Amino acid sequence: MTFGTVTPSTRSLRIGGLTPMTTVDYPGELSAVVFCQGCPWRCRYCHNGHLLPSTSVDQIPWSEVRAFLQARIGLLDALVFSGGEPTLQAALPAAMQEVRSMGFKIGLHTAGAYPDRLRRLLPFIDWVGLDIKALPAGYPAITGVPGSGERAWESLAILLDAGIVMQVRTTVAPGWCNERDLWPLMQRLAVLGVEDHVLQRCRTDSILDPSLAS
Ligand code: SF4
Repeated sequence: MTFGTVTPSTRSLRIGGLTPMTTVDYPGELSAVVFCQGCPWRCRYCHNGHLLPSTSVDQIPWSEVRAFLQARIGLLDALVFSGGEPTLQAALPAAMQEVRSMGFKIGLHTAGAYPDRLRRLLPFIDWVGLDIKALPAGYPAITGVPGSGERAWESLAILLDAGIVMQVRTTVAPGWCNERDLWPLMQRLAVLGVEDHVLQRCRTDSILDPSLAS
């Protein structure tokens, strides 16, 4: 499994953080979470600003994650790849394969920024938490990136087509996503067959655009 012509090693996976145990990041499963470094978008309400650059001085080597997981075989159910945007990294398929071979389920938190890469990850994924931020036209005002909405909604279509179990999440920011915005979004998701859609409150601590917190 490659994203290009060369299979990137798990050694190149850039991880900015690890949560050793959680019951909320993959519903119904006792999980650990690795936070992958880097994201192509800059959502104004992002509270993971330290994960947005592709590199960081505080990275955790994959060998440490592997050792952590080996010690928890039979104790944890799953590993969740979160971020940042995990699908940014070409080493992700190799990492998922390795974690799967250890007997863990795979969860993925993604904003759907790379639909082609997501399609190639489908054989490894058990569950996805997908951010759908708005209807496609509303994305650039949130992410700062033209075309980001089309990518996210293409990712949603890929996951629906593949029958992957998922939860769609929409962040509600102060003065940002009101009932007028939400209603057509919820209708469109329902028409597409999304069964699990949750609204999550924007965390205003360490938010990328502090004016949203005031
Ligand atoms: S897609 Fe997610 S990680 Fe990337 S900037 Fe937006 S909220 Fe932050």
